[in-house]
Amino acid sequence: MSRPKIWNLSRLRLAVQTLFLGVTVYGGTIVGPYLADKISKSLPALSCVFDKSNAAYCVLIPLQHQMHHRVGETFARLGELSLSIFIPILFTLLSFYLFFVILNKAFCGWICPLGTVQELLYKLGRYLDLAIHRLTGLQVRRVRPVKWVMLLVLVFLLPLATGLGYVPHAAGDAYCQVCPSRIVTTLLTADTEQLAVSRAGWLDFLFGAIRALLAGMVLVAALTVRQPFCRICPMLAFHALFKRLAILRLVKREHGKCDRCDLCTRACPMDIPEISTSHGHTAFNEDCTLCGRCAEFCPEDGVIQLKFGPASIYRSSRETFLQRSRREKPDGSYKRPLKSAGRGAKDE
Ligand code: SF4
Ligand code: SF4
Ligand code: SF4
Repeated sequence: MSRPKIWNLSRLRLAVQTLFLGVTVYGGTIVGPYLADKISKSLPALSCVFDKSNAAYCVLIPLQHQMHHRVGETFARLGELSLSIFIPILFTLLSFYLFFVILNKAFCGWICPLGTVQELLYKLGRYLDLAIHRLTGLQVRRVRPVKWVMLLVLVFLLPLATGLGYVPHAAGDAYCQVCPSRIVTTLLTADTEQLAVSRAGWLDFLFGAIRALLAGMVLVAALTVRQPFCRICPMLAFHALFKRLAILRLVKREHGKCDRCDLCTRACPMDIPEISTSHGHTAFNEDCTLCGRCAEFCPEDGVIQLKFGPASIYRSSRETFLQRSRREKPDGSYKRPLKSAGRGAKDE
């Protein structure tokens, strides 16, 4: 009897990521500037606003601008705090979060162009057989606060302080000044302008130097470390704030079937230890990008699931695990096809 065809989640995800890489980075060229402008206002993405060919702007741009121009400058004018300030901010948040409440963390695993580029580079590293550098549970936990500091300082505080007139104008979009996507996605369109380090002022120079350094480090590190920038990305923190509201989510219930084999953590591009050791809200961690690899590599039926509302849209199964592990190890490296895929595969 022929086996039922198993849905290859990774392949589907790669197809969606490739589509969105095209839309977010080259969309403006494909659909024309008029339509690109419309898409940009409705599709939240980490596609850089400095990319002249894009069709979707990063959501962090309007947030920084509103901190800078609306909140900061209005506080500076003392007493002019009114609904007219908060309505635009609310509108920005609502329009993005209507999307975010549906997609939430899946934005990272399925849409973000910088996330996709990092994944493709890691695949290239596997193809070249470069050594893998995996973060330990302790290292993962130590790095986690950095993304919250990035969000608080670069997206909220510095733009706000710029509006209040405490710091130079260059800090009005502080996160965009250092964001590696500004270099990586513009380079994809053969635009090298963002590589230049401005000498207009000391802060412009500092930001430009950090940006170039960060982009270079991310591009090199991604060959051997999975998703190096994602671990400190403020967008990951921003999504985590709304994780509990998310319609699309990862579910791992307390289950006698889970023997803590650790395969899910080894498959996880963010090296999340909690997915193998915990359940419930702790297993659906703030670092999760909803890529679904843990579900693909979990050998126990139904222990890990991707859910849309109450509906289970993808669940771990022994059959999927056996099929996925034939060619690929949980860490993403390739292997020769197994002659007999059985329990032994789980122990690899
Ligand atoms: S964490 Fe940041 S860089 Fe990584 S996929 Fe998400 S938005 Fe993109
Ligand atoms: S792979 Fe599945 S069985 Fe193994 S630790 Fe993770 S959830 Fe538990
Ligand atoms: S926990 Fe699972 S879905 Fe989340 S990032 Fe890790 S492998 Fe992907």
